[in-house]
Amino acid sequence: MADLFSLKNRVVLLTGASRGLGRDMALTLARAGATVLCAGRTVKALEATAKAISRKGGRAHVVPLDVTDEAAVREQVENIIARHRRIDVLVNNAGVLSREPIVDLATESFRLTVETDLIAPFVLSREIGRHMLKRKYGRIVNIASVLAVVARARVSGYVSAKHGIVGLTKSLAVEFGPDVTANAIAPGYIRTEINVALQQNKGFSDMLEQRTASHRWGRPEDLRGALLLLASDAGAYITGHTLVVDGGLSTVLA
Ligand code: NAD
Repeated sequence: MADLFSLKNRVVLLTGASRGLGRDMALTLARAGATVLCAGRTVKALEATAKAISRKGGRAHVVPLDVTDEAAVREQVENIIARHRRIDVLVNNAGVLSREPIVDLATESFRLTVETDLIAPFVLSREIGRHMLKRKYGRIVNIASVLAVVARARVSGYVSAKHGIVGLTKSLAVEFGPDVTANAIAPGYIRTEINVALQQNKGFSDMLEQRTASHRWGRPEDLRGALLLLASDAGAYITGHTLVVDGGLSTVLA
């Protein structure tokens, strides 16, 4: 049965692979057999991820990329296709978040979040989707959020972009089927650098642990099963879906 979730001989482009969820995803994908192309802006940190993979006998390469730079995306996709011949799996993981009430939020800040969390996944999916469609194989996995399903105060750019990515995922599924699937994972609160302020806020942490069915914060490894399902042949008949992995947070009313 392990073969069902294997990524042997697959080439995966993963954005935001330098830290947090992206780093764990990179290691997970490599352990499943993939060659992982670790994309992001901070080359040193990406090299550390790639090294951690090769130390365990896996294959990884660093792809310097700011996902909001459309020309750079085009150029790197061409480079990858020239070097590796294909991209079998795209994981749109890179993301940013800013915390401010709407009345104080500058348009530029809202725009940057939408550029990074929604428009960049669109551009990457379009550029790589063309190749996937030609090859008649592809898996696109977008990292959304529980804030793609419900909202919270002071993160309107993020909530808007993440709700948007659920729609983008459905649109990709409709236009790219049957050979290319597109799905999203909506994680709940997972301890990473993106939410250090919330981890340090006892009131928030207590609330989260109390109203999550799992009674705890998530860990990066909690996403591994969902990722492998949607990135592998196991997910061949799943498309357009947003898989919520939140320990029950969005299920519990109080
Ligand atoms: P993180 O801040 O630790 O990592 C974000 C990654 O994205 C970093 O590697 C960063 O360098 C990269 N990135 C940001 N802007 C970029 C750009 N313009 N170009 C290239 N790379 C860029 O956060 P994380 O928790 O690991 O988040 C990863 C993804 O998971 C994000 O999309 C986030 O919205 C989502 N998510 C996280 C949580 C959580 O609780 N941690 C919950 C739901 C969704």
